[in-house]
Amino acid sequence: MTFDQLGLVPALCTNVKNAGYSEPTPIQNHTIPYVLSGRDVLGCAQTGTGKTAAFALPILQLLAKKPGASHSETRALILTPTRELAQQVFDNFETYGKNMTPKSCVVFGGVGQQSQVDALSRGADVLVACPGRLWDLMNQGIISLDHVEIFVLDEADRMLDMGFIHDVRRIIGHLPEKHQTLLFSATMPDEVEALALDILKDPASVKVDPVSSPVKAIDQYMYYVDKNNKKRLLAFLLEDPSVENALVFSRTKYGCDRIVRDLKKSGIDAVAIHGDKSQGARTNALNRFKTGDCKVMVATDIAARGLDIEGLSHVINYDMPMEAEAYIHRIGRTGRAGKGGTAVSFCCIDEYKQLGQVEKLIGFRLPVHESQWPMENTTPSDPRTRIPQDPRPKKISFRGEAVKKTPGRFPPAGNQRSGLPKPVQRINKRKGSGM
Ligand code: AMP
Repeated sequence: MTFDQLGLVPALCTNVKNAGYSEPTPIQNHTIPYVLSGRDVLGCAQTGTGKTAAFALPILQLLAKKPGASHSETRALILTPTRELAQQVFDNFETYGKNMTPKSCVVFGGVGQQSQVDALSRGADVLVACPGRLWDLMNQGIISLDHVEIFVLDEADRMLDMGFIHDVRRIIGHLPEKHQTLLFSATMPDEVEALALDILKDPASVKVDPVSSPVKAIDQYMYYVDKNNKKRLLAFLLEDPSVENALVFSRTKYGCDRIVRDLKKSGIDAVAIHGDKSQGARTNALNRFKTGDCKVMVATDIAARGLDIEGLSHVINYDMPMEAEAYIHRIGRTGRAGKGGTAVSFCCIDEYKQLGQVEKLIGFRLPVHESQWPMENTTPSDPRTRIPQDPRPKKISFRGEAVKKTPGRFPPAGNQRSGLPKPVQRINKRKGSGM
């Protein structure tokens, strides 16, 4: 199948050819005809499959066929969960829509709104937006959704994870009664399925590469390594000439910054991208990484979701992900559009459970590679003891007052000075007394 066999107009075929695409990817083959025919679509596809072009190309064609007079009315709305993804989708619309009539615009939070308002006034047939900023601008009367003909909800499952589903529903409530809806999600948790049932009318279902089947072109393996040696192993691996660029995943924002500091100490330049960084710092980090000025970027799952980095050679899971599905999203950053890539995971003794969950999801054991820092610590760390900040009385009288404990035979266990119990010791005692 070629792009023109899918019914795309010559301008779009030229633009995709100039972007270097010789033929449509499976998701494009399946989705484009449905969108062109005006049907709602429920798309189950992981990132890296060419999903953006699957909706952007037919949207541009439909809008170009019926040009808006002033371009001031938003006729296609694309909602995305992260700012980086919004920018990326907008960039794709610019590339695919070159020399065509529809104008595109992007709005997201974390930066001043004035430049976005100026851009909106220059025309926004296609509006790519993150929910928060869109809602703000709607409330200020700057954006109206009254003329939206096509609505795309991209990465619906991530919208849910990030707590945006409520905003999304409010925004959907402002769409006109009659419009075409395209919903894309890598996974279909119950809430996303319920939303899909609510907002889609007789949708065509398109399923490509479900989340449990990572892109086959990725070489995946792992190291067992102690937590305190992860930084050494990382620096060692990054010095290998086969690493053209690497996206390193940390579970926490603090962890990202610490990994960058450790790498810098080893003489390796790295940038971090996570939710505590200002939008300017995030854009700057991403630009440095994308242009090859810095070959290592350290990110949290949320910050890196959906990022399309061309020719990413390595993904390194410095920490195993808490949810197995995040593994698929992480490694999907490499091996994009059928290209090869390598995904390396570090597993310390405290991460066995997560490793097991990942291997269950992908359906095979990750091959183990050995390094000069083999795992030596085989004792899991103690679970953190939880001391309630605001201990509530165990018993409450019918008047709602705390019932004082009658003094027992033994003095209270634990820290005499603060009066707070030492939970670990108490747990041990209890275990013993159960004999
Ligand atoms: P996406 O899943 O939309 O983030 O796209 C992933 C990557 O695939 C991007 O770098 C696109 O530029 C690229 N891509 C999209 N469609 C094609 C195609 N038909 N042929 C080759 N690459 C493509």
